Amino acid sequence: MSCIFCKIINGEIPCDKVYEDDKVLAFNDINPVAPYHILIIPKKHYESVLDIEDKDMEIVSHIHSIINKIAKEKGFSETGFRIINNCKEDGGQEVKHIHYHVLAGKKLPMYEA
Ligand code: 5GP
Ligand code: ZN
Repeated sequence: MSCIFCKIINGEIPCDKVYEDDKVLAFNDINPVAPYHILIIPKKHYESVLDIEDKDMEIVSHIHSIINKIAKEKGFSETGFRIINNCKEDGGQEVKHIHYHVLAGKKLPMYEA
């Protein structure tokens, strides 16, 4: 498996872990664009949101619940945050293992379209 996020999950590549359970891993982005820049990924490999089917919806709600928990633990639930999922080329997806960026710790600029 050449997927770098699968390699992070199986320990072949190290990461700065924020949270882990049997279904998801959260770790700090290697190239942060905000004071908090955390990536949340399912341990099961899905290329993008396009591969999440109705039967997989449990992982989506679980990811939301873990983001909620991390935000409260880190303290940025008070000031707010942004969740980003990039899909395919036009969305700016570089790593082809679905991931949610959580950005926090400063007033974020309005995104461009
Ligand atoms: P994308 O553009 O695919 O939505 O975002 C991929 C993100 O993964 C980027 O923000 C990039 O900095 C991060 N990233 C890429 N490779 C690694 C890595 O090996 N370790 C960590 N922690 N982050 C990575
Ligand atoms: Zn993967």
